[in-house]
Amino acid sequence: MTRAETIAAVRASVARARASGRRIALVPTMGYLHEGHLSLVDRARELADYVVVSVFVNPLQFGPGEDFDEYPRDAARDAAMLETRGADVMFAPSAEALYPRGEPGVSVVPGALADRLCGAFRPGHFQGVLTVVAKLLNIVRPDAAVFGRKDFQQGVLIGRMVRDLDWDVSIELAPIVREPDGLAMSSRNVYLSAAQRDQALSLSRGLFAAKAAFEAGERDADRLCARAEETLTAAGVQPQYVELVEPEWLEPVARAVQGNVLAVAAYIGPTRLIDNVVLE
Ligand code: AMP
Repeated sequence: MTRAETIAAVRASVARARASGRRIALVPTMGYLHEGHLSLVDRARELADYVVVSVFVNPLQFGPGEDFDEYPRDAARDAAMLETRGADVMFAPSAEALYPRGEPGVSVVPGALADRLCGAFRPGHFQGVLTVVAKLLNIVRPDAAVFGRKDFQQGVLIGRMVRDLDWDVSIELAPIVREPDGLAMSSRNVYLSAAQRDQALSLSRGLFAAKAAFEAGERDADRLCARAEETLTAAGVQPQYVELVEPEWLEPVARAVQGNVLAVAAYIGPTRLIDNVVLE
C-alpha cells in the first residue's frame, strides 16, 4: 500500500493505475478506523481493482464547540489496518494540502435536504461534508465511491449531489456494521465510559424495538417513534430527534411503509451519536 499526503501524489498513483486499465474506487473516512470503515474497503474491492482510502478529519464539517480538536487520530494504526485489508493507497492530506487558503472561497451548498434530521442541529455541517467529498471525488476521479448507511443523511446528500450536478461516479451505500450487542460502530465510541456505553446501547435497542413493532403490524409513525424513544429515556438518554422519514427526500411520514428509515441522534454525555434502521 502506498501512502500519499499531497493531491499531486495521490493523483500520480491513480493515474498509473488507470493507465493500466484498473477501475478506481474511493472510500472517504475521517480515520481512527474500525470494522465499519473496513467493510467499505471490502465493498470497494468488489467494485474496483484499485482502492483509495482517504483519511482526513475535515475541519469544515465541525461546528464551533464540536469535537474537531479531540477527534481521535492515529495514522499509523489506520495505515496498518488498511494494509491488511488490501487498500492500494491511503490518502492522508494535511488541512493545508486540501485548504491552502483556509476556508474555501467556493463550497457546495446543499438544499433543504441538509436542513432535516442532523442538519437541523448542525448548521453548516453538510455544506462542509459535501465540499470535502466534492474535492475528494475531483482529486481521485473514481469510478465508484463507497459510503456507510450509518451516516444515512450524508449518503442521501452525496447521492443527490452527484445526480444533480451530473458527476460520472457511482455512489454505493454499504450496510451499518454493529458491535455484537448492536451498538453501531463509530470512531466516537472511544469517548464513552463503560456506563455511557451501556446508555449508548439504547439507540440501537430503541430502533430495533420500533422495527419489531413495525414487523408486528404497527404503522403509526408517532407510535413507532415513541417506541424507540421509550427505550432511550428508560436508559436516561434524551434523544435530540427520533424521526421516521422516507429515504429519498427525508420527508417525515405519518404512516410507515417498508423502506422508510427510522433515525435517531442523541448525546451520551458530551458525545453525539447517531443510528438508523430501515423498516422491512
Ligand atoms: P467517518 O470516518 O465517521 O466519517 O466515516 C467514514 C465512512 O464510514 C462514512 O461513509 C460512514 O458512513 C462509514 N461508517 C462509519 N461507521 C460505520 C459503520 N458502523 N458501518 C458502516 N459504515 C460506517
